[in-house]
Amino acid sequence: MKILVVEDEPKLAEYLRKALTESSYVVDVASNGSDGRHLALDGHYDLVLLDVMLPGMDGFAVLRELRRAKNVPVLMLTAWDKVEDRVKGLQAGADDYLVKPFALSELLARVQALLRRGAAPGVGPDPTILRLADLELDLVRRKASRSGQRLDLTAKEFTLLTLLLRRHGQVLSRTTLAEQVWDMNFDSNTNVVEVAVRRLRGKLDDPFEKKLLHTVRGMGYVLENRE
Ligand code: CA
Repeated sequence: MKILVVEDEPKLAEYLRKALTESSYVVDVASNGSDGRHLALDGHYDLVLLDVMLPGMDGFAVLRELRRAKNVPVLMLTAWDKVEDRVKGLQAGADDYLVKPFALSELLARVQALLRRGAAPGVGPDPTILRLADLELDLVRRKASRSGQRLDLTAKEFTLLTLLLRRHGQVLSRTTLAEQVWDMNFDSNTNVVEVAVRRLRGKLDDPFEKKLLHTVRGMGYVLENRE
């Protein structure tokens, strides 16, 4: 899951980047409105965290342009005393707002709620839990298990498995995985993807008879319950 943070205060931007990265999101940061607009329009983000007060183009202007082109969930960051900003933001098409200063737990809860709302259909009746065969991923508690047996995954492995599971049955290329999980371009070292897939497979499939993660030669990987 990829999040764009548009925030001009360097300390807050860095804090958000760190906190979200630790929660296994891939994060890009823009420090002004026009960079934010550019990235949000060109990139593929699952969520945009948008500050209101930005140098140059403010958050409302960014939001208006974004809404003309895209349906990406937008969480606005507003000052505590600016009630009119919240109203204006929601009217301009923001999905939710967060008042500064905010607790990290609140930020993460809002982000998760928005991502759930924006999640693709077909992830099951309870989108915080993803399942395939005996594999279960609890996105809130960040736990993975097979047949009730806990899989000890790193944060990156969990993110990788989440992506594969959300799109199970679809072949995902190394490029897609590199971009979505590591925020890397294909030109950078995609060996990272192969190594991570091998490690994930060691935990996910090796101890179990039924294999779920398959390599499609020349194309990539697919998570699939094959009979
Ligand atoms: Ca600001």
